[in-house]
Amino acid sequence: MEHDVIIVGASIAGCTAATAYGRAGLRVALVERHRSPRAHKTLCGHFVLGGTHGVLERMGFWQPMLARGAAVTGGLGVRTGAGWVVPRPDSGVPPAISLRRSALDPLLREIAAATPGVDLLRGHRVVDLVEDRTGAVAGVVTSVGGSERATLRARLVVGADGHHSTVARLAGVAEDSAPNRRFLFWTYYEGATMNGPGDGQVWSLDPDIAVCIPVDGGLTQVGVFPAKDRLAEFTADRVAAFDRFVARLPDGPSLAGARRVSNLVGTTDYPCIRRDPTPRPGLALIGDAATASDPVPAVGCGWAFRSAVWLADATAVPLADGGNLRRALRSYRRAHRFIDKYDALGRQEALARPADPLRRAVRTAAVTDPDIARRLAMFGMRAAPPSVLLNPKVLARAVVGSRTRALRGTAGRTSSATPA
Ligand SMILES: Cc1cc2nc3c(=O)[nH]c(=O)nc-3n(C[C@H](O)[C@H](O)[C@H](O)COP(=O)(O)OP(=O)(O)OC[C@H]3O[C@@H](n4cnc5c(N)ncnc54)[C@H](O)[C@@H]3O)c2cc1C
Repeated sequence: MEHDVIIVGASIAGCTAATAYGRAGLRVALVERHRSPRAHKTLCGHFVLGGTHGVLERMGFWQPMLARGAAVTGGLGVRTGAGWVVPRPDSGVPPAISLRRSALDPLLREIAAATPGVDLLRGHRVVDLVEDRTGAVAGVVTSVGGSERATLRARLVVGADGHHSTVARLAGVAEDSAPNRRFLFWTYYEGATMNGPGDGQVWSLDPDIAVCIPVDGGLTQVGVFPAKDRLAEFTADRVAAFDRFVARLPDGPSLAGARRVSNLVGTTDYPCIRRDPTPRPGLALIGDAATASDPVPAVGCGWAFRSAVWLADATAVPLADGGNLRRALRSYRRAHRFIDKYDALGRQEALARPADPLRRAVRTAAVTDPDIARRLAMFGMRAAPPSVLLNPKVLARAVVGSRTRALRGTAGRTSSATPA
């Protein structure tokens, strides 16, 4: 066999996995349907949460992203019903990063293609799978330019082909879909001024959500994620509804002298999809092909980077030395539970229900309790397992703290956890 591993999809997950496998000395076929080196995903808010910082550093992606102009967000202010929450600068919450996909995707592809052992096959669309005598997935058939067919074989096929994963469909993998009761639109401004605390803001307005984030090129991204009961208002006049929404944000950005440099980008329906990441012998799924979460908490790019690295960590050695691949895939499956746990919570959050009393208590307590503010930020940045926030001790402290605050009548004031 010419390759040890075939990766379908040369976007975030696929390029990350290909780079990691190539560096481990494996022969990799990285198969991408698009021909253009500049191809990129357009429907993506590209805010990569801080929980992925370590993986980006380890893969050597962080500095090249900065060199292409990526903006770093070190302390995100979160506006809750009780006031602003910002973790203290010394709280150890890792930074988030934002680079538009028009720059990020070509960069990752360049890095992967320059890695020894990686063959980037552009213009190859996977149209079929190859199976061995035992029924294990053992390769792919690609269509090149519509008529020509090519067959590639390897011990492991990796589906990194996004939320509509052709690989998963061809392999007969079951799809678990859940509703998303929010829709979303964003745009970019030149010359906008942020007025909230931190170097980026999220408004958690129960159930509507909004964000204001610095991105590459010195631009500011402003996004709104309303519950679907406001869809009619946006259908009537999307831009006017967007402007009204942003104008009403408490401490929202000043846009009077700013120039909008893009149309509104977004979607009115984006269900959450998940599939078993190790569905069949010889096959693994990473990134959106395994878990396409609600876009609102901005987890997808991070999951794509991280699941790719977890898969390569688990399987590179057995692929190189002919060791036990099934056991290695089980190890990847275990690592993926980190994502599964957050995805289960994210599916609840995507229902856009008003916050329950416990969640309100956590947010209220976080306004004045720096430790709860830090935990909330670690949770939001997916920088620790959900138990960093959702554990009985922390929740009990949050309930007591929020009651004390209510008794003192301080609710609604600005956070003392907010740095000056
Ligand atoms: C509206 C919206 C906003 C979002 N905002 C954010 C955000 O702010 N932050 C964040 O972290 N995430 C966000 N996401 C999620 C993020 O875009 C995805 O999680 C991420 O792109 C997943 O990367 P991936 O590499 O798994 O898949 P993709 O980026 O979808 O890449 C799949 C690749 O596979 C290729 N491919 C597909 N089929 C084939 C085939 N048959 N043969 C060969 N190649 C094929 C495609 O051309 C593509 O290159 C958002 C998503 C949406 C919908």
